[in-house]
Amino acid sequence: MSEKTTPTPRPGILDITPYVPGKSKAASGSPVIKLSSNETPLGPSPKALAAYSAASTLERYPDGQATELRQAIADAYGLNPERIVCGAGSDEVLNLLAQGYLGEGDEAIYTEHGFLVYRTAILANGATPVIAPEADNCADVDAILNLASVKTKIVFLANPNNPTGTYLPFDELQRLRAGLPDHVILVLDAAYAEYVKRNDYEAGLELVATTANTVMTRTFSKVYGLAALRIGWCYAPAAIADVLNRIRGPFNVSTPAIAAAVAAIKDGTHMDKAVAHNDKWLAWLMEKIEAIGLEVTPSVANFILIHFPDTKGLTAADADAALCAKGILLRRVDGYGFPNALRMTVGSEDENRQTVTALQAFMDSDRSAS
Ligand SMILES: *Cc1c(COP(=O)(O)O)cnc(C)c1O
Repeated sequence: MSEKTTPTPRPGILDITPYVPGKSKAASGSPVIKLSSNETPLGPSPKALAAYSAASTLERYPDGQATELRQAIADAYGLNPERIVCGAGSDEVLNLLAQGYLGEGDEAIYTEHGFLVYRTAILANGATPVIAPEADNCADVDAILNLASVKTKIVFLANPNNPTGTYLPFDELQRLRAGLPDHVILVLDAAYAEYVKRNDYEAGLELVATTANTVMTRTFSKVYGLAALRIGWCYAPAAIADVLNRIRGPFNVSTPAIAAAVAAIKDGTHMDKAVAHNDKWLAWLMEKIEAIGLEVTPSVANFILIHFPDTKGLTAADADAALCAKGILLRRVDGYGFPNALRMTVGSEDENRQTVTALQAFMDSDRSAS
């Protein structure tokens, strides 16, 4: 062949913007307060840590069915273990759903400020992302329904959503499911479900139990504090679980991750502690930060979205720089359609107090300069 050719990825791949994780390092020297990735300030259950450390036979492949973990999850929630599929983080499960059900010519919907892993999963499988506008930084059922068509194969909805912290109540989820065609899989990503304290919230179990086309994904990365181990799961109709089991790697979750997750889900006391800590400090942060004069989107999760003024010197980028200089790392959310906001994870008492003090100083610095 005379013509030069180069390897070419499938259509869509080069449209993917690589995921930008929350920062984890500050200017050298400063001690770091890392509130950029929605990790729990309490860390994992001591029982999970012990189980992780005790994991042995590392020369052996893990149990490819993650039997013990699926059983522990089934016991905790009263589920059929056959319909639980575990993954290397719920990110893997989300990608498996896209891989199993999306291809060229298909569309998948996510919302305007929705979690960006969905976009990557859609494009990586050659399908077209369709973005539903939100109303007041919250998913809008009518906007999603307006965009659904014969081409739509999946609707991805984070509930509560990251980075907004807003949620749809159960009656709205029911209306969404009822309004979507039956061939559309509704994926309810409930990564923050444990934190939500609202009577009208339902993570998705009910809809998965009563429909043939709804999937709920969950994770051990957030309230359980096991983000480093990469472990998540979904509850799905039997036919969808079967598809995911056919395409997933045969040993996609590791032995230490399974051991830690089993111990974590059995330690209700530690989880209650983490949730109680979050309840207290989420409310405190919203109040203190609003008192400084910054707008905060009302959140039901373990993070808040803080909106900054457009004024030069007081923008989110300026705040990020000022906080970074003090070793405080929040999350830039430009990629989520919020060029002038920062997302802050609820931290330890000391981290929360230091961050509020730094935000106050940042706002005051401009007042004194002008
Ligand atoms: C953090 C997060 C996840 C969890 O991802 P893992 O792969 O399980 O660590 C999933 N969805 C949303 C919306 C998240 O914010």
